Amino acid sequence: MNIRMQPSNAPTFVDQFARHKHKLRISVTDRCNFKCLYCMPEHPQWTSKKQLLSWDELYQFCDFMVRRGIEQIRITGGEPLLRHGVVHFVEKLQSLRAYGLKRISMTSNAHYLKTHAVALKQAGLDDLNISLDSLDPIQFKQLTQKDLAPVIEGIAAAQAAGLKIKINTVLIQGLNDNQILPLAHWSIQQQVLLRFIEFMPLDGDQKWSRQQVVSEQEILNQLSQDFKLDQLRQTGADPARHYQINGHPIAIISTITHSFCDRCDRIRLTATGELYHCLFATQSLNIKAEIQQLHQLNVQQEQALTQSIATYIWHKKAGYAAIQQAQRAEQGIRKISMHMLGG
Ligand code: SAM
Ligand code: SF4
Repeated sequence: MNIRMQPSNAPTFVDQFARHKHKLRISVTDRCNFKCLYCMPEHPQWTSKKQLLSWDELYQFCDFMVRRGIEQIRITGGEPLLRHGVVHFVEKLQSLRAYGLKRISMTSNAHYLKTHAVALKQAGLDDLNISLDSLDPIQFKQLTQKDLAPVIEGIAAAQAAGLKIKINTVLIQGLNDNQILPLAHWSIQQQVLLRFIEFMPLDGDQKWSRQQVVSEQEILNQLSQDFKLDQLRQTGADPARHYQINGHPIAIISTITHSFCDRCDRIRLTATGELYHCLFATQSLNIKAEIQQLHQLNVQQEQALTQSIATYIWHKKAGYAAIQQAQRAEQGIRKISMHMLGG
């Protein structure tokens, strides 16, 4: 019931609202050298290295999923560049292009990017999202507990290596909302796409409040002070809403005020083998043991795994609002935060 065949005969996973899943995000580690206020808990408890799926196990899972309709894989974390072997993993994923993989991406804080940019490009990484929440070194340190300079150097190295990059900025009311205009001017200077992200209730210590969200409308109000603003048409399953400032592209991911749940085509895997059909899901599907056995599963066992993933994905809720309602009714507590799930 859950797996539909596409004309190409590649099956895809689909949920009860007919949203086909083409994108897989893999968090390869929950560890991070940053402590972003909106993400990391005050006292993180890192997963021990032996609990992580190995690179080979992650590769086997990617292979399994690409043969079932996944077209884009994003490597994230925690900080993916902290895990030794990540560049080789990107290189290995290239072989899955023969089975339908179209894009291999990464999200990084860019602290170690200067060292890895050229190797990532050579390994075949298609694009890279970089988090940058302030251009003010003091404010940057308050937000992340780390220095701004290596990040700026990392961005320059990525551009020099020819990597396609986007910049992600999470805005928090009263903390870095004064960075909207400086970052917008900087993005034009650097000729990069800047995407502002509304703060989501996925912080490690669950301190999020609606008052801290800088809404899309507030961002637009600020931008219109300095720029001629035009809205562009929405395309496909892109969560971002696109605009132009003086003709230069800029985007806003406004999960809180303009949820994109109705066209969500993503699923996520943690480094310990928990599959999530939604960022806000309170229930995951633990498939670690099955992933570890993937190379020796017989046809029936493969079908059983396909079916259990399909059933889990089928039950994905309508979206953020529906999940919040259910959480309130069940008093459900989200058991995972962004540093484990990878955004
Ligand atoms: N460490 C990498 C980085 O920061 O780019 C990758 C992992 S990080 C969890 C992935 C993305 O999630 C980043 O762009 C980050 O800004 C975003 N993020 C983390 N916590 C968030 C939150 N509470 N609300 C909105 N975005 C968040
Ligand atoms: Fe680390 Fe990225 Fe979370 Fe910041 S957003 S703490 S860099 S995982």
